[in-house]
Amino acid sequence: MIDFQPIFQAVRQAAVLCQQVQEHYLISNDKGGHEPVTIADYGAQAILSRCISLHFPDDAILAEEQGGQFMELVAEDQRKEVIRLISQILGITVTQVDVVKWLDYGQNREASRMWVIDPIDGTKGYISMRNYAIAVGLMVDRKPVGGIIGAPAYPGGAQLFHAQSGNAYMQPLQGGAVKRVHVSASTNAASLRALESVEKSHANHDRMQHVREVAGLGEAELIHIDSMEKYARIAAGDAELYLRLPRIGSTRPFMIWDHCAGTAIVEAAGGKVTDVDGSPLDYSSGKTLKNQGIVVSNGAIHDRVIAAVQKILTEEA
Ligand code: AMP
Ligand code: MG
Repeated sequence: MIDFQPIFQAVRQAAVLCQQVQEHYLISNDKGGHEPVTIADYGAQAILSRCISLHFPDDAILAEEQGGQFMELVAEDQRKEVIRLISQILGITVTQVDVVKWLDYGQNREASRMWVIDPIDGTKGYISMRNYAIAVGLMVDRKPVGGIIGAPAYPGGAQLFHAQSGNAYMQPLQGGAVKRVHVSASTNAASLRALESVEKSHANHDRMQHVREVAGLGEAELIHIDSMEKYARIAAGDAELYLRLPRIGSTRPFMIWDHCAGTAIVEAAGGKVTDVDGSPLDYSSGKTLKNQGIVVSNGAIHDRVIAAVQKILTEEA
């Protein structure tokens, strides 16, 4: 069994960096398409990828950020600031060459074992001081089999979730007792909690409301949160449904790093993660998933939600 302890430590270090940037140096740059990126995205990925390069040097990495972008998009004084923070947090002297090398480490390589990094998932939430996640997924032969999610803004205190060998766990992000988690068994609409993105541009809120109504879940409490923390809440039994249906006509693909760790953790907690037709998400190649939407649930309500999505897709066609 792979030892996740070094990754847990790297996620904790990345979370410290994210918090320090959020408190003292928050400036965002535009990656294009109005997608923001901050020095914390690069700093956190450098810490996570460095850890994998040290402990699993032959593995492949699929990660959101790139060294070239760090050099092009980030002003020199900001680069110096994040390099100083990485050095301080790791307790070693780090150079710009190191950071660029770590950012790109293991990328453009295919190997049976592939780590999937989203250093800050929900960057818009992070910038707005809402929820965000630090995510490391693990694929073996392109199937999500493990994952780690740091959730610094989890209700009740920062948490670290992980899935390994078919079981899901949570522990306080800063360390403490590790406990197994399992999805909620609830099917009673009035007591269900449904999750969706805060950002209206990320998913079509009206379509998803329609699905919940057709599925008989219109009474469910609706909670808007950013990031893969949505997967963590389903795994922990703190919510039962997470829908992600794109705007009609959207051609924007789903990125593997936005879903890999979450998929592994929810499945290990006994939940379901599927495409709109109930089939598993397709992680088989490249950086994008080949599916139409994402339905995440506690399992018990899955079939009725898929039936409702299918009915609405037929009506829309
Ligand atoms: P969430 O916080 O769950 O809404 O999702 C965050 C993720 O949404 C980010 O990691 C992006 O990859 C993705 N994203 C950003 N902009 C868009 C968009 N216009 N449409 C769909 N997804 C987006
Ligand atoms: Mg993301």
